Amino acid sequence: MKKGLLIILSGFSGSGKGTAVRKLLEKYPEDYILSVSATTRQPREGEVHGVHYFFCEEEEFREMIVTDSLLEYAGYVGHYYGTPRAFVETALEEGKDVILEIEIQGALKVKEKFPDAVLLFMTPPTVSELKARLTGRGTETEEVIAGRLARAIEEADGCEAYDYLIINDNIDECVEELHQLIRAEHKSMARNAETIERIRKELSEYQKGEMK
Ligand code: 5GP
Repeated sequence: MKKGLLIILSGFSGSGKGTAVRKLLEKYPEDYILSVSATTRQPREGEVHGVHYFFCEEEEFREMIVTDSLLEYAGYVGHYYGTPRAFVETALEEGKDVILEIEIQGALKVKEKFPDAVLLFMTPPTVSELKARLTGRGTETEEVIAGRLARAIEEADGCEAYDYLIINDNIDECVEELHQLIRAEHKSMARNAETIERIRKELSEYQKGEMK
């Protein structure tokens, strides 16, 4: 069976990547599966353990690092975040397209281990829009917002390593753009080497038969 695509979506906090992923999964539930990360940060209101994150203590997180149970992990604004390895590897083997919604350090580590991964970086169209979205969410303190904006400066630094830039101006258009982009990735020559090889072989067998 053909392995699934590993899709990594990053972007500034407030870029709307969380909403985009949720809507993508709602619209195309058969096509994608989301990896649920582990984190040491506290749940926000409405967040459910096992759905949004696996919330854990720092000690449990360290244990996952030691036992190599994480595909990658990173520190982000004072907390650890990491991707459980087994889930991702199994889903890819089953031919599913797996989405990781993770920050840049982790994304680059995954790219080293899985050079075939598709890296997508999402941004709002302007910085004032970014600030407005962070403030408007109403769930974060001024200090956390300041931390996230500072981090955005660092993240903008590394985003050239990504394969595609997604500008989230209109969320529904953005979701469709994401979906079409991933569909197109499936059709790239590099990802279809086996099919091309088979067709070449068939052609050459056909030619041999004709010439008899
Ligand atoms: P938040 O606290 O807003 O849910 O997430 C903060 C940042 O951590 C976001 O940029 C999010 O994409 C990132 N993140 C979430 N899960 C993971 C993970 O498993 N690994 C890494 N490296 N980053 C993650």
